[in-house]
Amino acid sequence: IARNPGEAEFHQAVFEVMQSLSPIIGKFPAFAQWSIIKRLCEPERQIIFRVPWVADNGEIQINRGFRVEFNSALGPFKGGLRFHPSVNLSIIKFLGFEQVFKNALTGMPIGGGKGGSDFDPKGRSDGEVMRFCQSFMTELYRHLGEYTDVPAGDIGVGGRELGYLFGQYKRITNRYESGVLTGKGLSWGGSKVRTEATGYGTVFFAQQMLATRGESFEGKKVLVSGSGNVAIYAVEKVHQLGGTVIGCSDSNGYIVDEAGLDLDLLKDLKEVRRARLSEYAEARPGARHIADGSLWDVPCQIALPCATHNELPLDAAKSLLDNGVQLVAEGANMPCTPEAIDLFREASVLYAPGKASNAGGVATSALEMQQNASRDAWSFEDTEARLEQIMSDIHTRCVETAAEFGAPGDYVTGANLAGYIKVADAMVALGVI
Ligand code: NDP
Repeated sequence: IARNPGEAEFHQAVFEVMQSLSPIIGKFPAFAQWSIIKRLCEPERQIIFRVPWVADNGEIQINRGFRVEFNSALGPFKGGLRFHPSVNLSIIKFLGFEQVFKNALTGMPIGGGKGGSDFDPKGRSDGEVMRFCQSFMTELYRHLGEYTDVPAGDIGVGGRELGYLFGQYKRITNRYESGVLTGKGLSWGGSKVRTEATGYGTVFFAQQMLATRGESFEGKKVLVSGSGNVAIYAVEKVHQLGGTVIGCSDSNGYIVDEAGLDLDLLKDLKEVRRARLSEYAEARPGARHIADGSLWDVPCQIALPCATHNELPLDAAKSLLDNGVQLVAEGANMPCTPEAIDLFREASVLYAPGKASNAGGVATSALEMQQNASRDAWSFEDTEARLEQIMSDIHTRCVETAAEFGAPGDYVTGANLAGYIKVADAMVALGVI
């Protein structure tokens, strides 16, 4: 804390992993050395840069850009870019730290990193977003490469932004280096299922968790927070598996639609028109939009927080428990506060941390890199089947590791220890670097 003052989100993410580590001291003393832990908490490289660009009204705007290259013991740095006004070094470091263990859990050869900017694409014209992305990449490009650092999208960075970023990278470097970014469009090197991957993967993981108690999504009422990329495709997969999503949210409130969300309407609002969720209730008879209060007060059996960090605090967890929630699986990164997580674990609710349950996005990014490297393009069905298998493997890894270290059924212990052991093992092998 003294070394990284004021970085509350980063401290929270580190604490969450560290509190799980004591069981490895007896079994793998080399991995529990203080020198490994200290190196794991110190990013290999942190880049902070100025992003100047010109708004439509001619005013010069200055944003701050970040890329934290956290750990490359397992492969090139890999992790998304976030464009949101709340972005600061603490948030990028927490996301990069989480990414290291998440990527290790996928079993794929990728290290961890994260980046972004305090730029807010909301309300900006396409031209403004393009000029910002071009300026951002004009600095960032020198740090990237398919064997060095491979960004993707995150909050505020979707297909449009990635297109402008890739275009500028290609222009500056004079190389069509497809493997330098993931989440690309299908016509320029992207992978089928990447758009759906994080949401689908979260639901596949939750399906595996339910199966451990002989349950399924069939007939269950589900809440999904957010209404962005992760949320929309979580809703889609829940509906395909026979569950009903009755509510979702954005930063201006939430909607309740007891008949089940109309996915076509939601996609049109959010993916095509970039409109607010309040318009959903105007267009859909029987649906309600609530501007104040919490989505988590709506009774459900399954909760999938897919919006942002710390969106599910203790009182929301109490409310979910009082209403009989059976499973909480994180689609977002660190959406549940530590107090909420403690409550779920004490109550033996099935609870999955994001580093396990939302790893489908980055895993499919690694599949995109494989396709780019082999100049190949796989079918939707084949890629989805691989994603489902990867999520099942991550689930097995979590369950087996938790049992091995004396915490059967505890996904926090399983995910943290499985991820940590994999990275620490590689770090010991690579020497003091
Ligand atoms: P998007 O920008 O597509 O969507 C984010 C959604 O969350 C928007 O609907 C946004 O609403 C909403 N939101 C943001 N802040 C709040 C808040 N305080 N309360 C309620 N809703 C809020 O981002 P993604 O869907 O890509 O990312 C969502 C989460 O998933 C993030 O934590 C991200 O790190 C994580 N994640 C994403 C992956 C990916 O592949 N995209 C991979 C792994 C994790 P509004 O539009 O009003 O801001």
